[in-house]
Amino acid sequence: MDSILENLFSDRYSISQDIIDLSRKKEEELSDIFKQIEVVRDFNQLKVLSAMQKEGISDRHFAGSSGYGYDDIGRDAIDRVYASAFGAEDSLVRSQIVSGTHCLTVALFGLLRPGDELLAVTGKPYDTLDTVIGIRPGNGSLAEFGVNYSQVDLLPDGIPDYERIYDAVNEKTKVVLIQRSKGYCYRPAMSLENIAKVVDAVRSKRKDVIIFTDNCYGEFVDIKEPTQMGVDIMAGSLIKNPGGGLALSGGYIAGRKDLVDMCGERMTAPGIGKHVGASQGACRSILQGFYFAPHIVAESLKGAVFTAAMFESLGVECNPSSREKRSDIVQALKLGSPENLSLFCKAMQAAAPVDSYVVPEAWDMPGYDDKVIMAAGAFVQGSSIELSADGPMTPPYIAYMQGGLTYINVKLAAMTAACEYLRKN
Ligand SMILES: *Cc1c(COP(=O)(O)O)cnc(C)c1O
Repeated sequence: MDSILENLFSDRYSISQDIIDLSRKKEEELSDIFKQIEVVRDFNQLKVLSAMQKEGISDRHFAGSSGYGYDDIGRDAIDRVYASAFGAEDSLVRSQIVSGTHCLTVALFGLLRPGDELLAVTGKPYDTLDTVIGIRPGNGSLAEFGVNYSQVDLLPDGIPDYERIYDAVNEKTKVVLIQRSKGYCYRPAMSLENIAKVVDAVRSKRKDVIIFTDNCYGEFVDIKEPTQMGVDIMAGSLIKNPGGGLALSGGYIAGRKDLVDMCGERMTAPGIGKHVGASQGACRSILQGFYFAPHIVAESLKGAVFTAAMFESLGVECNPSSREKRSDIVQALKLGSPENLSLFCKAMQAAAPVDSYVVPEAWDMPGYDDKVIMAAGAFVQGSSIELSADGPMTPPYIAYMQGGLTYINVKLAAMTAACEYLRKN
């Protein structure tokens, strides 16, 4: 049976026989890792299913509302389904949240007040938060509203510096920010165990600090979420993991009810909060996407593991390595030269279902010092639960890839990239 696929790889996609052989060997070696991913997937699938059954999800929840969206039963049911699956008291899931950055912004502005301090404890947060926090000047940043910022860097091995975190928490600290995913840093994603240790370090100094997690790319990678590890509130994007590739836009905030309410007041208006907002036609795809999310996350994880294994065999350093335990869906590959980074992204693009004919080129992007090359061939614009890869054109030329709605598509992309890599190196 395998030969049917192998013929297609060589005839249709011009993959060389040595890469086909290597990929067969790698898949055999990875079977135990794939099994572990499937166990997590099945556990999370049943968790989501149970949340939907408890809520009594039915066709009436898909209808949507218009205008103010009073009594929108679909919207309110989605909030409860997310909360239940994530072990949180409440949640705010909205298609009107335009991106992950917007979602984190709603949460930070919802929770922080003038004179408060925001303390990032996993190093500098994701790049797009620079202008939100005021690390770089941003019109309307937290800094402009008198919110101070401080930061504790990770130790060189990417582990939180628990002692310095303890020391940094002071009487002004209002929110502690943990970023789970590596984002665009070459470091391990924060494991749930380490998140729990950060919580302990913070709480042993002060019980009342709000611990907030940027959970982007982390959902359903493990059997629990940060809100089940002592974190008060977390946020993420629906065009990443929890949207399952079907949600067309949106973000979620989940956690303690009083805190989610504060975020709701910021998202709409003080006094109005999360009780309005027309879901229009979004409920069905948000719910169906959430239902698919554990499966889709598993597909993308298998794709990431396979890609790492292939490139490790070709001598490329990968983070995480193929056998390491994961806490996000991001795969970083240290490709070593601009040509390699470029060929990798081109192969990812060529393997995509959408815009496969487009050839990505490095370009100057606002907010970045170096040129950046990006590959994305997605049904939903900017969706990075779909196969995507990018990297700054600077040494050591790291590609960050994530997503893939089906494992076989990521496998094809990795084989194409490996084939090109072998040809050029
Ligand atoms: C993607 C991401 C964000 C920002 O999300 P956008 O949708 O790109 O605005 C923030 N933090 C982390 C860790 C992310 O992965």
